[in-house]
Amino acid sequence: MESSEIRRLRRALLAWYAVARRDLPWRRTSEPYRIWLSEVMLQQTRAAAAAPYYQRFLERFPNVEALAAAPEQDVLALWAGLGYYTRARLLHRAAQQVASLGRFPDDYDSIRALPGVGDYTAAAVASIAFAQPHAVLDGNVARLLSRLTAESGIISLPATRARLQATASLLLDPKAPGAFNQAMMELGATVCLPRVPLCNSCPLQASCSAYQTGRQAELPVKAPRKPFHSALRELLLIRRRGAILFRQLSPSSPRLAGFWELPERASLPDALRLRLLGSFPHTIVQTRYECQVWEATLPSAPAGLRWIDLRRFSEFPVSTISKKALKIAGI
Ligand code: SF4
Repeated sequence: MESSEIRRLRRALLAWYAVARRDLPWRRTSEPYRIWLSEVMLQQTRAAAAAPYYQRFLERFPNVEALAAAPEQDVLALWAGLGYYTRARLLHRAAQQVASLGRFPDDYDSIRALPGVGDYTAAAVASIAFAQPHAVLDGNVARLLSRLTAESGIISLPATRARLQATASLLLDPKAPGAFNQAMMELGATVCLPRVPLCNSCPLQASCSAYQTGRQAELPVKAPRKPFHSALRELLLIRRRGAILFRQLSPSSPRLAGFWELPERASLPDALRLRLLGSFPHTIVQTRYECQVWEATLPSAPAGLRWIDLRRFSEFPVSTISKKALKIAGI
């Protein structure tokens, strides 16, 4: 792309962003803690879903010191529902590092060195909070750039990502890196949509190779999908005097370590199923589970399980699957 075209593209994008940007809570600040928190939440979560969590987090942990001082269980309990809980654990660990440092790191490499911070998050925080020229490449920006440049490589391949990152860095406006990055992400999230991009509302239409050749639907090029597997899970709702029996996942569990779940029939063969309360589907990576919720009884609770009083329920981080099951049971 010629440098005059790059300048035109920057102007068109920033002018569009000034008018079209959504009023999201993390856009009202350039405070590093808040920007970092929002970017970690947004790593695998849509903006609309992340916003209420962001607000609740800031009410409970208004600064990095408060987050650092909190017990991990409290952090996980507030995070419950956002998924990808390793993010919450690493966020907590990073907060402790920042608090012991006494200030938020203010350059790309030091931000990148924090636990849980990858290239994307480091670039977002460095550019938005510290106006440093580092281009972001999230999923939305990658899709947008692959259409803009008619990228023919499979989008998930490292070589393709490296080409797209180089394009993002070339296009980045060094005078307004934070606004430029946010504008690219916003355009990808709201206009250059995955299925049907809204090209007639796009400020980059004149520079877009996919638009000019009518190839928007073919791009980005995706890897062939892996097949899904199906499996059954039988969740047991075992009550005793206003309490429900839960098991805690071990700290070394590959997923949801430390979280609480309803026990399952496969691990409690002595439990007697009394009544099917309902079922719901739940997908984890490549497996589609049919989750059945059974009211059940058990002669005695084995070691490792715990009765949790329904009134103290919100103090515990509970897995999404168990929350869905409890909803079916009217709890
Ligand atoms: S013109 Fe269409 S395909 Fe090209 S960047 Fe804009 S929305 Fe995406």
